[in-house]
Amino acid sequence: MKKRVLFLDRDGNIIEEPIVDEQVDSFEKLEFLPNSISALKFLRENSDFEFSMVTNQDGLGTERFPEHTFWPVHDKMLSILKSEGVIFDDVFIDKSFPNEKLPTRKPGVGMLGKYFSDEYDLPNSIVIGDRLTDVELAKNLGAKAIWYADKSRYSELENAGLSEYCILICNNWDEIVKFLLFPPRFAEVTRKTNETDIKIALNLDGNGTYNIKTGLHFFDHMLEQLSRHSNCNITINVNGDLHIDEHHTIEDTAIALGEAF
Ligand SMILES: [Mg+2]
Repeated sequence: MKKRVLFLDRDGNIIEEPIVDEQVDSFEKLEFLPNSISALKFLRENSDFEFSMVTNQDGLGTERFPEHTFWPVHDKMLSILKSEGVIFDDVFIDKSFPNEKLPTRKPGVGMLGKYFSDEYDLPNSIVIGDRLTDVELAKNLGAKAIWYADKSRYSELENAGLSEYCILICNNWDEIVKFLLFPPRFAEVTRKTNETDIKIALNLDGNGTYNIKTGLHFFDHMLEQLSRHSNCNITINVNGDLHIDEHHTIEDTAIALGEAF
């Protein structure tokens, strides 16, 4: 079986990225993001993803960011993660500056050649990172991205033309785990007869939102209560032979909704 990969950004994704200079070059600056360790541990234990860290460290090895300030902190971070069972199969670090435009620097895939082989399932692999360049990396790999960012930033994704490559925007590791390991249970049912034309969408793992139009207001109201109190998301559109009476509409909606459940 082909291997799926989680390509994990480091700064601003697993650990905090210092606002001042975006460099984690001392132990004082090493701070894990909330629940990142436990989430990665859970994903490592309960999925078949390989873990690959991919990180840009601008100017690492230059005077601005000497290697001796980087490695002790980086190694400490990896050893803390390892002590919780979070082991990385590979770690890729690009040391260039943005203006050098090297192909090894994210969103370039210059360091990631090994994944373009029959051994790997890139379409079902996922990049997780906090920058749009991480989403762009997913595009360049032929993978998908989870953008570790506030959901309110969706328009930035659209403006960059990257929304089709991003399957989730979220800066909550627990939610990311839930999304990756427990996808929503969803069904769609279409039922068309001489008497009724029905379309139903049902998400058992929703939040109780609904959009129900059967043409019968009291019936809509009853179905809405089902959604509201069960936390299922329910969309129902019915075009029934109400000029005769209500019974086909109610009966057939129940049949289709039962099938969806
Ligand atoms: Mg980052």
